[in-house]
Amino acid sequence: MEPFSIQQATDAPTAIKAVGAAAGSKFIAGGTNLVDLMKMYVERPAVLVNINGLNLNKIETLTHGGVRIGALVRNSDLAYHPLIEKRYPVLSQALLSGASPQLRNMATTGGNLLQRTRCPYFFDISFPCNKRTPGSGCSAIKGYNRSNAILGGSDHCIATHPSDMCVAMAALDASIRIEGPDGERDIPFTDFHLLPGETPEKETVLKPGELITAVDLPPLSHSARSHYLKVRDRASYEFALASAAVVLNMDNGEIKSGRIALGGVGTKPWRATKAEQLLQGRPSEELYHTVAAAALEGAKAQTYNGFKIELAKRTLIRALTITAGGIA
Ligand SMILES: Cc1cc2nc3c(=O)[nH]c(=O)nc-3n(C[C@H](O)[C@H](O)[C@H](O)COP(=O)(O)OP(=O)(O)OC[C@H]3O[C@@H](n4cnc5c(N)ncnc54)[C@H](O)[C@@H]3O)c2cc1C
Ligand code: SF4
Repeated sequence: MEPFSIQQATDAPTAIKAVGAAAGSKFIAGGTNLVDLMKMYVERPAVLVNINGLNLNKIETLTHGGVRIGALVRNSDLAYHPLIEKRYPVLSQALLSGASPQLRNMATTGGNLLQRTRCPYFFDISFPCNKRTPGSGCSAIKGYNRSNAILGGSDHCIATHPSDMCVAMAALDASIRIEGPDGERDIPFTDFHLLPGETPEKETVLKPGELITAVDLPPLSHSARSHYLKVRDRASYEFALASAAVVLNMDNGEIKSGRIALGGVGTKPWRATKAEQLLQGRPSEELYHTVAAAALEGAKAQTYNGFKIELAKRTLIRALTITAGGIA
């Protein structure tokens, strides 16, 4: 690990100013991702600005019926909050499927949004990696790419976005609240993470010095049902090979509308908007197969990850079946 200094911030303006004042500085929240990357010389910030003293750890109901989650709310506190368990089970389930209890006790909402890929070549500085060192090449495209993405990749990067929480938030149509040197702004969740294109090192629309302050969840209709299903190599403490977050609006046993996001397969939390347009009518195997085929349209397999196409379809079909309460 490179030497670094640490500054304590007690409010958002001070934290933003401190990060803006020193080149190579970063916010630190739970530290569960950033410190690992620093130990492996993937991240080398000269200054860390500790934001744990900021008043951003509340979960509040909004006047229109939605919920605001402070950026410093720990993943465990969010998963077990009665409002989330009752109204947004997909989010609770996604959070509890991630990492371990100890990590979830430290990991924050803001940090989870910005966690970096688990592509093995990104973590190992002896390999070329465009995301870590722009222009150096992508070791995964011709290498061992079993865990890499089948949706949203480019010739420059095929790294998956690793978060479970983000997949649920994408399906919930969340928005992200930001505060920065130019004031405050809200970003729709699906616009927050970027596709790799020719600049895989640019992962979000955050500008230098901007601080995530909260995530807002919109209200769901009373008939809404939701579920998160994650498939991985072992039952716990493992990232997704494929996952699906499903939110369905149902009436009289019929699907009126639905939202779908996939994890473990895309270079960003993958909202399947085209498939959603087909998600209407009486639940049936035929409907689910049609929707799953549309969700994986355009998927591109690499040498070792072709199995993910079928796996993601089956994961989504299973998640739809569970959410709708079986097949009519
Ligand atoms: C062994 C292991 C297994 C894991 N398994 C899973 C898993 O199965 N599923 C899953 O989803 N995740 C998993 N994780 C990842 C874990 O969820 C993340 O490490 C965690 O959510 C990051 O949150 P943090 O608060 O610790 O972030 P930090 O490490 O503190 O920060 C991460 C990044 O976010 C920035 N940042 C933090 N807060 C803010 C803010 N408010 N505004 C702007 N920038 C900010 C930091 O500068 C840094 O760049 C695993 C992690 C480990 C170590
Ligand atoms: S897939 Fe992306 S993160 Fe992985 S080696 Fe290639 S450029 Fe790096």
